[in-house]
Amino acid sequence: MNDKQAAEISDELKLEFDGKTCVKCNYKRQSTDNAPEWACPSCGVAYVKAEAAIKEEQDRLGLQNRIERVKFMEENEKFDSKEQAQVEADKSIAKQIYILIFFGGLTGGITFLISMAMAFKHNNFQGKKNWVHSHFAWQVKAFWDATIWAGVGFLIVLVGLISSIKNSFKDGLGSGYEVYGQLFGWMFDPFFMKCLAVGGVIVVMAGVWHLVRMIQGYRALQRDETL
Ligand SMILES: [Zn+2]
Repeated sequence: MNDKQAAEISDELKLEFDGKTCVKCNYKRQSTDNAPEWACPSCGVAYVKAEAAIKEEQDRLGLQNRIERVKFMEENEKFDSKEQAQVEADKSIAKQIYILIFFGGLTGGITFLISMAMAFKHNNFQGKKNWVHSHFAWQVKAFWDATIWAGVGFLIVLVGLISSIKNSFKDGLGSGYEVYGQLFGWMFDPFFMKCLAVGGVIVVMAGVWHLVRMIQGYRALQRDETL
């Protein structure tokens, strides 16, 4: 190595350390600094030593972070499995309610009433709700919609019934066989028949709509879908 090469290497070294910032005191090396290249002119620490110490500290923190992350994930997993168990329990209840509502008519409405009580109870749950609770809300909403529409239908039939009976007896009781005409005649009153048809169709449609919504809900539940 001749002098020229040595000078070049020295210049390269200078350039490399020029503007170097000390990791300990943050002093930025100036080209005018006379301290040895390997040390910080301000605090005197060896760059390599200071950097190694910083790296060690970072590794230590990194390990700590990893340990904490694993702990956090473990906690989460515990929580998740608990929550998943709750979801499964709620799912089986929601499923039972759908089935009981659907076949409620076959058992004289007893299972229907029980299942609606269950749906109301779970819908009013005050704790942390999961997606299955949208099904309890759906069951309650469907119940009220069907009840309101069936109520409207029955009301129309009732109005026709009262009006036609009143009309049948508006001149008081007739004599002899006329009474039979009055007693049964209102059934054939055109107004009553219209009310019966319209109200009846509304009641039936409310019932069918309700069953369709229960099937819809049941199928969504089977697919793990919210409603
Ligand atoms: Zn320094």
